[in-house]
Amino acid sequence: MASPFTINYAERIKTLPPYLFAAIDQKKTEVRARGIDIIDLGVGDPDLPTPAHIVSALQYAAAKKENHQYPSYVGMPAFREAASQWLNRRFEIDCNPASEILSLIGSKEGIAHIPLAFVNPGDYVLVPDPGYPVYAVATGFAGGLVHKMPLLEENGFLPDLQAIPDEIADRAKLMFINYPNNPTGAVADQNFFEQVIIFAHRHNIIVCHDAAYTELAYNDYRPLSFLQVPGAKEIGIEFHSFSKTYNMTGWRIGFAAGNAQVVNGLGKVKTNIDSGAFQAIQEAAIVALSADQHCVVELCRIYQHRQEIMVNALGKAGFTLSVPQATFYLWIKNPVGMDSAGVAAMLLEQAGVVVTPGNGFGDAGEGYFRISLTVPEARLQEAGERIIKAIG
Ligand SMILES: *Cc1c(COP(=O)(O)O)cnc(C)c1O
Repeated sequence: MASPFTINYAERIKTLPPYLFAAIDQKKTEVRARGIDIIDLGVGDPDLPTPAHIVSALQYAAAKKENHQYPSYVGMPAFREAASQWLNRRFEIDCNPASEILSLIGSKEGIAHIPLAFVNPGDYVLVPDPGYPVYAVATGFAGGLVHKMPLLEENGFLPDLQAIPDEIADRAKLMFINYPNNPTGAVADQNFFEQVIIFAHRHNIIVCHDAAYTELAYNDYRPLSFLQVPGAKEIGIEFHSFSKTYNMTGWRIGFAAGNAQVVNGLGKVKTNIDSGAFQAIQEAAIVALSADQHCVVELCRIYQHRQEIMVNALGKAGFTLSVPQATFYLWIKNPVGMDSAGVAAMLLEQAGVVVTPGNGFGDAGEGYFRISLTVPEARLQEAGERIIKAIG
């Protein structure tokens, strides 16, 4: 008899951090089994539909037979042109659509693939902590080493570049940054981006700015693009997403913009892995970028109102938090004496409300939990009342 066949995962899979929501999912199932109505403020996935004019554009484009074949690897010229014009209208940036813009199958896809283009085994990548988990995992998949940059409240949740040891910085190939920030809701000013550019030049580090939330901002605040800052295009690239701006998380479309060689390197990886984004989706995305942006204004109005409801309730429950100028998240300090997992468990058990423990985004997220404002107003109101009752 032959020995039994065995399936062995590769080291890169075996060493993945535990799934962020696994423990919560387990508890959610238990609580739901007791017949409790659960309000999920955990996941950052917009509840509102994609605006109708964008859906119509997809319906029309999906029927065109020329869209049924393999798309261009780098994106349709018209898509890259629309992205270039949008960047110019919104941020007064000039990006050459032929060489400085690349379509992505969602910005996550580009973020996950870029280390493969620039990181050799043993090279460092500078990653924010807390942060979007993909930066660290993608670094590991490329054989790179993660150096965490803690985002601390006393620094406005910006990384302290001075705290990065020279010997690490000199061996670093990439740095990920993300403003407006998930999970903290923090924003970056021009001065911070200037410091990043100086640092990147000094140590020869390619900067990858994740710009998924530049369009979701409140009052008159308009987030900056990293590429607006002089010198940025010499050292970096920016990832743009349609997901949060136009409620298109399921569509899988985004683009990278910036340094032509960096764009080209990412493109080389992609050519060997995927075959571009469905052209009908690119055509609908062109409509999203080119049409009147009233739908985005309206979306921000809705999130801001939700934000007021939840901030108000959390204040009554005795929590401390600052009100973010952008993103649909709230980043809240744990009650004294509780850790993040404990708060999440308590809110689920006693209020039927799911939140994300901050340490799920990295060790420096311990001490906080995240609420996502992606449920309808009435549910948010209800969640707020239940939290007040559970805590008070
Ligand atoms: C949602 C999100 C993304 C991913 O966006 P897609 O374009 O849907 O892939 C990237 N970065 C951050 C920080 C996000 O929160």
